[in-house]
Amino acid sequence: MSPRQTTDTAPERDALITMVRDFAAKEITPVVEELDSTERFPEEIYARMGELGLMGITVPERDGGAGGHVADYIAVMEELSYGYASVADQCGLVELVGSLLAGYGTQEQKDRYLPGIISGRTRCAYALTEPGAGSDLGSLATRARRDGADWVLNGEKIYIHNAPVADVALVLAVTDPGRRKRGGMSMFLVDVDTPGVERGYREKKMGQKASPVGGFVFTDVRLPPTALLGAEGSGFGAVLSVLEKGRLGIGALANGISRAALDTASEHAVSRHQFGQPLSDFQSVAFQLADMAVDHQAARLLLEHAAGLLDTGRTAGPACSMAKLFASEASVRNTSRAVQILGGGGYIRGVPAERLYRDARITTIYEGTSEVQRLIISRDLVRRRG
Ligand SMILES: Cc1cc2nc3c(=O)[nH]c(=O)nc-3n(C[C@H](O)[C@H](O)[C@H](O)COP(=O)(O)OP(=O)(O)OC[C@H]3O[C@@H](n4cnc5c(N)ncnc54)[C@H](O)[C@@H]3O)c2cc1C
Repeated sequence: MSPRQTTDTAPERDALITMVRDFAAKEITPVVEELDSTERFPEEIYARMGELGLMGITVPERDGGAGGHVADYIAVMEELSYGYASVADQCGLVELVGSLLAGYGTQEQKDRYLPGIISGRTRCAYALTEPGAGSDLGSLATRARRDGADWVLNGEKIYIHNAPVADVALVLAVTDPGRRKRGGMSMFLVDVDTPGVERGYREKKMGQKASPVGGFVFTDVRLPPTALLGAEGSGFGAVLSVLEKGRLGIGALANGISRAALDTASEHAVSRHQFGQPLSDFQSVAFQLADMAVDHQAARLLLEHAAGLLDTGRTAGPACSMAKLFASEASVRNTSRAVQILGGGGYIRGVPAERLYRDARITTIYEGTSEVQRLIISRDLVRRRG
């Protein structure tokens, strides 16, 4: 089955999963330790993902995407992340930027950017976070002012995935300070080679080392009217339109790490002998493996449930928050358990458990922290009682 077909049925989705699992095993797993140690941007893997139709999975076929469901997207994210979370991260980024271009772009903007982004040749970034605005996007300070027909952009973005390598960035800026989140923010397509755009430093991160992260500084960047994505003032709405899908994507990425942790821990527990028996014969180790399997499966069910709500157009916000919260925290738990089961070896560079532990940690922070997810879930509960 081609992954470019819509996968309405379980057998079609199973075929998609088999294809991605095979790709991850043959083309990601063999280079993962090299990518973790060199922090190289693996262009060749992204070009292959473009060829296989693994970029822009829910982007409509008429816009060059795979035209799939959110359920397809999360299945692909888990499989890619089982191979390496940084690779899944790139798929998630293209999914968000591609969806925003498909949903809000003019035909000219789509023609200009989408083919390159979905084929994995054009490197994109999605720039919301600022020094003074993380969880609280309402305090954004990056400002775009009109100057004749043009816009002039000033401000700073930090912790932006792909900033060190991006060709184009989707940048959220304040265009009406009086309205801010209520129609005062707009999204701009900024070619990174435009005069006045400066890439900041590349951050040294704890994990997901092959995903370059850094900042942008915008100083009097003159943008043509065609740089505005969607209507003036639609920027915050655009962010919200992809938020839930983005959270499920990161939940699924976390769950891929979780499954990798379970597999490496199980393998070690049955092969390593101490006191004359395999580690897995010690009940304390076996029960940890059981808890890891339950965490992984529970996360998958929460993710699939939320994806089903999104795919059928139902209210999905709290369900997506529950899935992202649980899957990311389960991934942190499972990678920590894997390190423990591996013993001293789990603390050594080059051993998968050590990398997985570092790769998992960011998943409770980006795409909305665990605390933000708990706020959304609890506010929904209170609203229903009120
Ligand atoms: C590797 C990496 C990649 C990233 N990629 C991108 C990207 O591509 N694009 C992008 O725009 N951003 C990106 N980010 C930024 C990321 O989305 C933010 O770090 C995240 O939203 C949290 O914001 P913050 O770091 O400013 O933390 P803060 O918002 O300052 O939060 C700090 C702590 O306070 C808690 N907190 C904040 N508000 C509340 C509240 N109301 N109630 C309870 N607790 C609260 C938080 O949960 C957290 O524990 C990335 C970050 C990293 C590290």
